[in-house]
Amino acid sequence: MRLLVTGGAGFIGAVTVRRLCEAGHEPIVLDDLSAGHREAVAGMELVVGDFGERALLRDLLGSKKIDAVVHFAASSLVGESVQRPGEYYRNNLERSLALLDVLRERGVMRLVLSSTAAVYGEPVVIPMDEEHPTRPTNPYGETKLALEKALRWYHAAYGFASVSLRYFNAAGASADGSLGEVHDPETHLVPNVLRAALTDDPVPVFGTDYATHDGTAVRDYVHVEDLADGHVRALESLERMGGASVLNLGNGAGFSVLQVIEAARRITGKPIPIRKASRRPGDPESLVASSGRARREIGWTPRFPGLESILETAWRFARTHPHGYRS
Ligand code: UDP
Repeated sequence: MRLLVTGGAGFIGAVTVRRLCEAGHEPIVLDDLSAGHREAVAGMELVVGDFGERALLRDLLGSKKIDAVVHFAASSLVGESVQRPGEYYRNNLERSLALLDVLRERGVMRLVLSSTAAVYGEPVVIPMDEEHPTRPTNPYGETKLALEKALRWYHAAYGFASVSLRYFNAAGASADGSLGEVHDPETHLVPNVLRAALTDDPVPVFGTDYATHDGTAVRDYVHVEDLADGHVRALESLERMGGASVLNLGNGAGFSVLQVIEAARRITGKPIPIRKASRRPGDPESLVASSGRARREIGWTPRFPGLESILETAWRFARTHPHGYRS
């Protein structure tokens, strides 16, 4: 399939773009490089621009025959979304609606959405399946949930087919160690822990008073290569599935912040000092997936389900790219 991949130069996007090529698809990356990296899509067709700009989209879709869209581009930081909600509503919702308008206009009626476990909010039961109540605790989750709902109505009104992939905590790096997580500033746990391993600066632990076994927040860490595989499968299943589906992608195993740090100490052999800090606004206590539906619907089985393989690949990337892609 000829694909438009918004945000394809970002962390999950770039690994997925590579996978899509390996699976015989032809991705065109559309990325404004505000968080993505040109180096991460070297050799790929890249259009630098805003995915919500109608004129650009009309040009792009007019000149290339596109079969489907994989929509990664978004603002995706929980803490930042609490501080700057307007930006999240505009970037994730308003610009996505502009994209949907132009897709519909041009007859491109298939889309895979990068959604998130943040749509659930505080857990009612663990693990969470797709029927778990959705009560986001931050604007990031709220805007993704609104977009998922819009996609359901777009299906009802126009027959627009979509799969929203609610991923849990993306981490790790490509198996060959060449593509990994680089954000500026970096806010995510795994890269921050590995940076602390390299620099000996303490890593902040946000919240030590949660009602979890050690007081720190629990997340389900899922390897970026497995997420990429989930996108390829979802895309290839879109036609068969029809409708507007939602699927969780997670391993079903929860690890606390302190457990991640302890595992990283074992893998890196470094002491990794910590600094206790207050909770980060908008952070739920625990997010752990039940991914049975993804297994049944698209045959998704994680190949790297353990925390070890996630940390090992991320560590290989961190050591070889201490200054990001420019090192
Ligand atoms: N976290 C932390 N220290 C950091 C970064 C993150 O304690 O330097 C915590 C964060 O508060 C959350 C968990 O680690 O409880 C995962 O955060 P991350 O930003 O990696 O992903 P999120 O769950 O926000 O998508």
